[in-house]
Amino acid sequence: MLIEDIKIWLHQGQQFIKDIDKAQVPAPFRGRPILSQQGLSAEMGEELKNLCPTEAIELNPLSLDLGKCVFCGECAQYYPQHIQFSNDHHIGSNSRQALIVNTETTAIKQIYPEIIRKEIQNIFGRSLKLRQISAAGDNSHEAELNACGNVNFDMGRFGVEFVASPRHADGIVITGPISENMALATKICYEAVPKPSIVVLCGADAISGGIFAGSGALQRKFLEEVPIDLYVPGNPAHPLTFIQAILALIRYKNE
Ligand code: SF4
Repeated sequence: MLIEDIKIWLHQGQQFIKDIDKAQVPAPFRGRPILSQQGLSAEMGEELKNLCPTEAIELNPLSLDLGKCVFCGECAQYYPQHIQFSNDHHIGSNSRQALIVNTETTAIKQIYPEIIRKEIQNIFGRSLKLRQISAAGDNSHEAELNACGNVNFDMGRFGVEFVASPRHADGIVITGPISENMALATKICYEAVPKPSIVVLCGADAISGGIFAGSGALQRKFLEEVPIDLYVPGNPAHPLTFIQAILALIRYKNE
């Protein structure tokens, strides 16, 4: 049996991604956008802004909100001289404001020490169990979070795992825009997690409502009542983006 295992290992080599930070995600992955306002007339700007289905683009100065962006690529397709998507997957942050990219942005500032809660470093630095809540999610975010545990991404090796019950969890990961029908269930699940606990919003739908923002079918009040510890953009968020952002949060050390 052992011989068989060794043969498989020799044949398949190392399957897990060794360095989550340095890993490169190939195209067509869209990561941190690079913006340029040069030559963007008022008329072109309006057209560019109107292209966006989630109102993620603002003008004067040009900016793009990763918390709203569904990475459809329309803006980059029609205005490649003003918006391009790099493959930088380090786009999660503990600040909602940090997700707004402008022409000066060369990297997303992932951790703002002044807003990180002390218990995150003290308690969850080496082990974090998470309960995932699909609050009217479309299954794409959930599928990618599932992939975080596969042999490739192997999130468990960092001590971070999804668990079946909120009673066994240290925090929740919300996907989906939170429909009226899921609002109470989301709150109950959050309250069932022993405190202190962390809250992660994963994907554009959870962060801003995504393409459903403003719909009367949503009930997002819960998000105003709890501290949000981490925002992970994407539609869906890539497993590398999720794992890297979680590790940046729980491993952050004050100087
Ligand atoms: S890629 Fe993002 S910013 Fe660009 S049009 Fe689509 S949703 Fe809007």
